[in-house]
Amino acid sequence: MSSEEISRLPYLDEDLELEKRVDDLLGRMTLEEKIKVLAGKMFFFTKTIKRLGLKSFKMTDGPHGVGALGTYFKKKTTYFPVAICRASTWNLELSEQFGQALAEEVRAVGRHMILGPAINIHRTPLCGRTFEYQTEDPYLNSELAVAVVKGVQSKRIAACIKHYVGNNQEKWRFNVSSEIDERTLREIYLPAFEASVKNADVWSVMACYNKVNGVHGCENKDILMEKLINDFGFQGFIVSDWFATKFTTTEGCMKAGLSLEMPYRNVYKKAKILEALKSSQITEEILNDRVRRLLRVMFLVGMFDNKEKIPEGSLGTPEHIQIAKKIAEEGIVLLKNENNILPLDISQIKKIAVLGPNANKKFAFSGGSSMIRSIYEVTPLAGLKNKCKNKIEFVNLPSEADVAIVFAGLNHSKNMDTENSDRLTLDLSSSQIDLIKNTVKNNSNTIVVLLNGSPIAMSDWIKDVPAVIEAWYPGLEGGNVIADILFGDVNPSGKLPITFPKKLEDSPAHKSERTYPGIKESINNSKPLKKVFYDEGIFVGYRHFDKNNIEPLFPFGYGLSYTTFKYENLKIKKAEISKNDKIEISVDITNTGNRKGAEIMQIYINDCECSAERPPKELKAFKKVFLEPGEKQTINFELYPNILSFFDPKSNKWIIESGKFKVLVASSSRDIKLEGEIDYIE
Ligand code: BGC
Repeated sequence: MSSEEISRLPYLDEDLELEKRVDDLLGRMTLEEKIKVLAGKMFFFTKTIKRLGLKSFKMTDGPHGVGALGTYFKKKTTYFPVAICRASTWNLELSEQFGQALAEEVRAVGRHMILGPAINIHRTPLCGRTFEYQTEDPYLNSELAVAVVKGVQSKRIAACIKHYVGNNQEKWRFNVSSEIDERTLREIYLPAFEASVKNADVWSVMACYNKVNGVHGCENKDILMEKLINDFGFQGFIVSDWFATKFTTTEGCMKAGLSLEMPYRNVYKKAKILEALKSSQITEEILNDRVRRLLRVMFLVGMFDNKEKIPEGSLGTPEHIQIAKKIAEEGIVLLKNENNILPLDISQIKKIAVLGPNANKKFAFSGGSSMIRSIYEVTPLAGLKNKCKNKIEFVNLPSEADVAIVFAGLNHSKNMDTENSDRLTLDLSSSQIDLIKNTVKNNSNTIVVLLNGSPIAMSDWIKDVPAVIEAWYPGLEGGNVIADILFGDVNPSGKLPITFPKKLEDSPAHKSERTYPGIKESINNSKPLKKVFYDEGIFVGYRHFDKNNIEPLFPFGYGLSYTTFKYENLKIKKAEISKNDKIEISVDITNTGNRKGAEIMQIYINDCECSAERPPKELKAFKKVFLEPGEKQTINFELYPNILSFFDPKSNKWIIESGKFKVLVASSSRDIKLEGEIDYIE
């Protein structure tokens, strides 16, 4: 066919309905061509079919910017704060804007799909990819994921939520089986994936390396075909994590729903697929469905459309940088501020000592597949120098300074915050602990700023240090933002999306080797199977700390501000509700200090009478409210009764039982400000 003839074919008609275009193209493909598109080449691309004008579908890593790997290190891109920092903003609008900016960068580097957001639940603080993931709470996780996916896809770039599912540790990630019961899957690990499908129509899902209940992610019929496709109604395509099909079969992956094998052909080799068809292990109908799903997304991202109609790309623009900066401003968490030592007064300070291994460290270009070649990166020291130029002298000795700032934390080396290995301890290195202790001994005005992507134990030193800031890995503008927070140009408003335990043993996954990292089981001298048992069930994160009455170092939802807030006047419109009612709640909030600031108001529910065991509280709504000094606002929450439900594995359904529920209005999971009650009547 000449290119002119091709251009008149129905699938190239932009006015034709999507499904008709997909069907038309599929109908023109030979069996060989269908097989050809189901596996990758050059690590991030799919194969082309010239005859039909089918180009390569191109992917690149995320999640906090266009990854260096996916552009073969050729492009410099915007380094946004890592996901745990973005989650700490609790700002959904900002997550959506991030998604849009990210998609513009993906388009600018000529790719169609971003391998993100990464939305596995924080089960253990030791997980090497905690920084890439958002939170320990399924509701916050869902809301954030939906916002990012919507933002990305509004620019006709595919989002790919990963790693589906139960990939909650990096140790043994290629072959450990996450043993998770049905209720726990439904209530904790699946909700963000489910919400991304149902509320954001996500176009792609990446199947995990690990097994779930004995079966590898890519061929796990229960989690892929039964739950994701049939139950949640997923219309997009499933892609394998890179090399995750290694221990799977052609038939298994095909039947489970896997469309695209990455990065290269293994189980989707032509001979293997033809053999599976010949022996009737799979049918051409199944094969067609897997191809159709991929084609559908190729159309959605505009691969067959006129360039003018496709949203434009852009890289490292002032707008993108501004979004990255805003995420850092709202995501950095003030953990401790004794005697209001912060913010510092620039006119009162003459000498400052800056110490610690993270003071002048750059983080973008490390951490595993999420690494970024950033257009630039402002380190904390550079940020401080920008702010204090000609105003404050930098000295080496804490004893000679008015204020000492220690930049401590982790980095992305092996066994820290990085892919493919977990942390070995919750503690800072002993040299950093010594540095903090010595500094504070020599200067009582010592501030510790942490740069890290997962919780750190602080019991050894925190009592001596008057102020602590959790800055995470705050992206390319991070250093400037840290300086803005230290000197009060920005009022911190981030809150923790994860509990910080006092010690590792307090954490739900660390009861025994069985629960982390797992044990090896050998049956009849066979190769040992590695299994990690999620024995804590639904009691992950604050659900565990609440149930077992364990005092955390810092609770979920916690974060300080330079101003104060007052909660009052909780009103629940209707105290008795049933299936078709809304739960309408209003609360007054006032900024009672003298700086403008933002408070993240949290609503938790407690089921007082239930036949199943339920957590003492579960987050069901939140709102970030920005208030001028003295300003008062009435905040309304409108909730639906399904927030009262739990998953009943016997009936395989979400159910709500009649009875009383407490409504807790809170500033953190451990700081309940107001309490009300509703009665659910069937
Ligand atoms: C990671 C994925 C990543 C992929 C491609 C894998 O090792 O687990 O998150 O998207 O590599 O780089």
